Amino acid sequence: MSKIVLIGANHAGTAAANTIMDRYPDHELVIFDRNSNISYLGCGTALWIGRQIEGTEGLFYASEEALRSKGAVIHMETAVDRVDFAGKTVHATDKDGRSIETRYDKLIIAAGSLPIEPNIPGKDLERVHVVKLFQDGQAIDSALADPAVQTVAVVGAGYIGVEIAEAVQRRGKKALLFEAADTSLSGYYDPCFSKEMDKNLANHGIELHFNERLRAIEGEGSVSRVVSDRGAYPAGLVILAVGFRPDSALGRDHLKLFDNGAYLVDLHQRTSDPDVFAIGDCATVWSNALEAPAYIALATNAVRSGIVAAHNACGTPLASVGVQGSNGICIYGYKMVSTGLSLEAARRAGFDAVYTDCEDLQKPAFIEEDNAKVKLRVVYSEKSRRILGAQMASTQDISMGIHLFSLAIAEKLTIEKLALLDIFFLPHFNQPYNYITMAALGAD
Ligand SMILES: Cc1cc2nc3c(=O)[nH]c(=O)nc-3n(C[C@H](O)[C@H](O)[C@H](O)COP(=O)(O)OP(=O)(O)OC[C@H]3O[C@@H](n4cnc5c(N)ncnc54)[C@H](O)[C@@H]3O)c2cc1C
Repeated sequence: MSKIVLIGANHAGTAAANTIMDRYPDHELVIFDRNSNISYLGCGTALWIGRQIEGTEGLFYASEEALRSKGAVIHMETAVDRVDFAGKTVHATDKDGRSIETRYDKLIIAAGSLPIEPNIPGKDLERVHVVKLFQDGQAIDSALADPAVQTVAVVGAGYIGVEIAEAVQRRGKKALLFEAADTSLSGYYDPCFSKEMDKNLANHGIELHFNERLRAIEGEGSVSRVVSDRGAYPAGLVILAVGFRPDSALGRDHLKLFDNGAYLVDLHQRTSDPDVFAIGDCATVWSNALEAPAYIALATNAVRSGIVAAHNACGTPLASVGVQGSNGICIYGYKMVSTGLSLEAARRAGFDAVYTDCEDLQKPAFIEEDNAKVKLRVVYSEKSRRILGAQMASTQDISMGIHLFSLAIAEKLTIEKLALLDIFFLPHFNQPYNYITMAALGAD
């Protein structure tokens, strides 16, 4: 039996804690989290703020009490200030200022990520918020309830900014969406996909300010306008959604780091210190598309990495199978999903990437109900023929299709093999010449 200390009890930490307590009840587990809640599904923030769901209750799936009832010692609202890696001791301070010191045999760091705050004048004014914690959602929600707030500037058109812009507009406010790139979602999709999302946003009244950088936020105490490199606009609320950085404050002087500061881990989630594991948003993942470590901050990756670290910390060797960064978004019913690398990302990474596109109805044209167009792009290496990525879009739920491409990338499938894959046909579901086969057959 060994003593495991876990720092952070959100998605990665909760997955690790549950695995340890369920599978290895003989081990001692001590958990620290500086927040007052755990397991908040940030993906629900926009749904709740936009009133697409009733309340926030369902956005938590675990609790301090549940972990305690399984036998863990848990210190909430207690920040770990320092780790003495040589002495294998964690030093923390609780909300009343009391110091807590505890030794470990194995340490799991699940400290997550922090929102990037662009260094622009006025970012500390009232009613300038980031989107990360449940508490951030509450602050935005209450600002939107103020009738004086008529216009909201959302900064960053990644998936969180786009979702929040939709939510703000659903609350009857004018949403201005600022983005330095020339499309939304440019990190995950090629322009032919992102531009469809841009049209969708504009058609629903979101004012797009792309190719435009915010220079200042102004106001007396509270924000009243924003200034960009193109103009000035009144705004009663500013929401900053420009990305996340790994929180590696505790181990950055001792552990090996990736180029963005995340803890560099192996397939067992082990850091450069053999008794220390790092999981979730504070650590790297292994990208099967790049065949290299990468930083992909997603709850899905966090949960899997937590499970892997828990087994290894408890003495059962288990290797991660790597990730593809599969993701999805649904804005006003328009759905986009992707996995692996976009064409632009693949070329930037040095691949001889080419692509094949196909757009068709999901089902034969004689099926008149629930039959929408689906757009598909498959990215592959011209020489090796290995599939590197895929993007799909439709008003219909096509999300299950992207998992096939995720597996294809993980298993290094070639585009020629995909063309011959056994895909069933029934008019209720798809076409005899379906778009996946047709895209693969069309590959040069
Ligand atoms: C608005 C929003 C929407 C999202 N939507 C999706 C989605 O749809 N799908 C998806 O897969 N992902 C989504 N994500 C990303 C996902 O939420 C993150 O990848 C996930 O939260 C990472 O989990 P984590 O446990 O690694 O880190 P975090 O969630 O950052 O949790 C880290 C925990 O560590 C604690 N902690 C940190 N430092 C200390 C310390 N020194 N002492 C004590 N405690 C500490 C923190 O209090 C926190 O509880 C979204 C994120 C946001 C913000």
